[in-house]
Amino acid sequence: MKTTISSSLAFQLMSLLFIGLHGLSIMEQLQAVTVPPNLIADQLNSAQLVADVFIESLNSMNDPDAITKTIASATILKVHRANSRQSNVRERDTIDIEVLGGELNGLGVMYSGLPRPYTGQSYRVFLNPINSNGINRYVITGFEKGLEPLTQMRKSSRNRTDGSNGAGNGPFLYWDPRYFPIQFLISAPSFVSNPSFVEAIEESFKPWRNDADISVEFIAQGCNQSTKNENDSLNTVILVKENWPFESAAIAVTRNFYISGTGSNAGMILDSDILLNGVSFSLTTTGEAGKHDIRNIVTHEVGHFLGFGHEVAVVDEEATMFASAVAGETKKRTLATNDIQVLRSAYAGVGTKFDNQNIHCAVADKTIGCLSVHSSETKNLNYFWLILYLLTTLGLGKWTTKRYGFTSGSLNRQK
Ligand SMILES: [Zn+2]
Repeated sequence: MKTTISSSLAFQLMSLLFIGLHGLSIMEQLQAVTVPPNLIADQLNSAQLVADVFIESLNSMNDPDAITKTIASATILKVHRANSRQSNVRERDTIDIEVLGGELNGLGVMYSGLPRPYTGQSYRVFLNPINSNGINRYVITGFEKGLEPLTQMRKSSRNRTDGSNGAGNGPFLYWDPRYFPIQFLISAPSFVSNPSFVEAIEESFKPWRNDADISVEFIAQGCNQSTKNENDSLNTVILVKENWPFESAAIAVTRNFYISGTGSNAGMILDSDILLNGVSFSLTTTGEAGKHDIRNIVTHEVGHFLGFGHEVAVVDEEATMFASAVAGETKKRTLATNDIQVLRSAYAGVGTKFDNQNIHCAVADKTIGCLSVHSSETKNLNYFWLILYLLTTLGLGKWTTKRYGFTSGSLNRQK
């Protein structure tokens, strides 16, 4: 058992170390959202141009540090709907579509649940024109529903490194079972006035590890002080209470950093943070009217955390990974058959369980602080982790760099 803990910790901490040293050139990031369905429908209905297009090329994304964007060059195959201003758009015209995410110098960004097209694929797109520095461009509206593949290729709801939800050719995203249990932390500043939210979040990880036929295991590591979504190898659940950086319609966003390329470790997730939108939405653990149930939302986000995308054919609206959620809903708390199928396909096997070693994040009790524990074993575990951390920082970084094939990055965004 200790071997497993040590390799997990070593991996996490070494990730932290070499990411700091080498920047992010070998990683990509992926994010995911949950949106109320009425907002998606409103956006699709109000689209000013609806057309079938072929994606000719994708340019490099602009700025990987901020809200990243890429220009997709698309040829119009057919116009389905155009308002008066768009009535001059014709078949075979080429248009520029600005999309979130993209790739640059080995760094990729994807927001799962937000549209990221790929070259050579045809889509029905729901577009609105924008004027960007005097250049006419379009943006996709209606989240991923606004970018509908014309050939239904998606057979899986596992995210791939190419940004697809199963249809593409990139390796699948995954957590390596050798480093289970996957640690996660709760942002103490986020939840200091809502300790019941913390318990609900901790509960939300459990459905994804309870199945007897899978190897997934999580271990709660208590609180941390983070309020930022960053690639620090600390998987943190954060409630954003001001300056929500994404579309206001998104209830939550999960971002994964993973190893890109085609090597044997490509797709391996290194860091995942879950952000809850406390700016536009009210969250609850007690079913208050008009509020979103924490477990309903976070259980869905933990699916993204594990590398899963939204429901694909056959779509089951009862599934945890169905794309949207309404206030008061609780059905995503429990996994549906489709969720369990994708879970078993990604993480088949029998893993070690760490039931009694979780550290509860006691946000409200400042005298105990973040290391309030459930079991006596946990304290030993903490020392164990501390020792490993020291060992790691004292010179195992080279080993890790060699082992995972990381090289010095040309892109250094960690400052
Ligand atoms: Zn989602």
